[in-house]
Amino acid sequence: MTTLTKLECSACRKEYESGAPRNLCACGGPLLARYDLEKTRQSWSRDWIQNGPSSMWRYAPVLPVSKPRAIVSLGEGMTPLVKAERLGKRLGATNLWVKDEGLNPTGSFKARGLSCAVSMAVELGIRKLAIPSAGNAASAMAAYCAAAGLEAHIFMPADVPQSNYIECKVSGANVTLVDGLIGDCARVVSERKDAEGWFDVSTLKEPYRLEGKKTMGYELAEQFRWRLPDAILYPAGGGVGLIGMWKAFQELEALTWIAGKRPKMIAVQAAGCQPIVRAFERGEERSTFWENARTVASGLRVPKALGDFLILRAIRESGGTAVAVTDEEMLDAGMQLASDEGLFVAPEGAGCVAATAKLLASGFLRPDETVVIYNTGAGLKYLEAYSTRFPREISGEYDKLGGLITPR
Ligand SMILES: *Cc1c(COP(=O)(O)O)cnc(C)c1O
Ligand SMILES: [Zn+2]
Repeated sequence: MTTLTKLECSACRKEYESGAPRNLCACGGPLLARYDLEKTRQSWSRDWIQNGPSSMWRYAPVLPVSKPRAIVSLGEGMTPLVKAERLGKRLGATNLWVKDEGLNPTGSFKARGLSCAVSMAVELGIRKLAIPSAGNAASAMAAYCAAAGLEAHIFMPADVPQSNYIECKVSGANVTLVDGLIGDCARVVSERKDAEGWFDVSTLKEPYRLEGKKTMGYELAEQFRWRLPDAILYPAGGGVGLIGMWKAFQELEALTWIAGKRPKMIAVQAAGCQPIVRAFERGEERSTFWENARTVASGLRVPKALGDFLILRAIRESGGTAVAVTDEEMLDAGMQLASDEGLFVAPEGAGCVAATAKLLASGFLRPDETVVIYNTGAGLKYLEAYSTRFPREISGEYDKLGGLITPR
């Protein structure tokens, strides 16, 4: 089981015991889980992993849960890594892959983070969880709390995609729609949590969602037989998936399971909300709040990420970059990917396709490099966004042969 030893502040390095519920460090920095990787290295082999469960819990020694009974799993992780031959040919990339996180429970990679966080809540005896969410984290939290029999209190923007709203309601969560964005939802949670007895599961304010998300990095290494690709494109909102993968690569090196150059980490954001791109271009360590954030990629509507300095550090240390794409480019790319490869992806993931085309054109990516695009969510969750491309105005005329109504 786990080799978790402590929590360590990512900003000031102060250490905390891991056996109690914790949010941020006293200094305001996010806490990171630390493991005894030397012990793990001696007692575990990468060749045994295939004998583990077909979920992210196959990496249990580097996940925080100590009691197997506490694990709340709906089969998250072990998502397909699909070679995109036809799209690659179109874009001029011979080694292009899509890691399809849309096949997770609740249709997004958020399932990984919440499977881990809800399991730790069970282990630590927490009964009432509260979350501010741009959408998909809420869906995952509702599902995992339902599976664990815990109370879920969800705060999300009033204009969140319908899928997210319905998923939360159908799982019996307590849902509050907020006239604002994820930051406004977070404020409501922090104002009310003490009086209500809620534990705040905001990403990075809670240390274990990151641990679930990092399994995307372990899994990629395993699926590529312990050789990492040259570049990873990731649609960054809070950027926690990217931070988590970077942490996974550090741990994998300490385990001596991988060696050599790490991938260039490329953050993709929406033109209507690109604080990380701006900070990267200006050489800044932290981002500034992005005013009037707007994009159909709801997961990218994060005007200020708590872990911005960790995202920017990973991008720079890896020799990566940050790219913005417009909503129109995302939807175009989503339709291209679906018609070339049969993968119907979230606008967030589609944004990475558009960014790949830009980076190939600029020469930042070479045609023969191994490039992995993370599709973080299922296209099926974004029917409102894609519907703008396919309005169904029923013509009222019947097809003479089939008796069918013909969409115009
Ligand atoms: C939450 C979310 C993102 C952003 O994830 P981070 O790791 O917080 O940057 C991207 N895409 C989708 C579909 C999401 O739900
Ligand atoms: Zn600190």
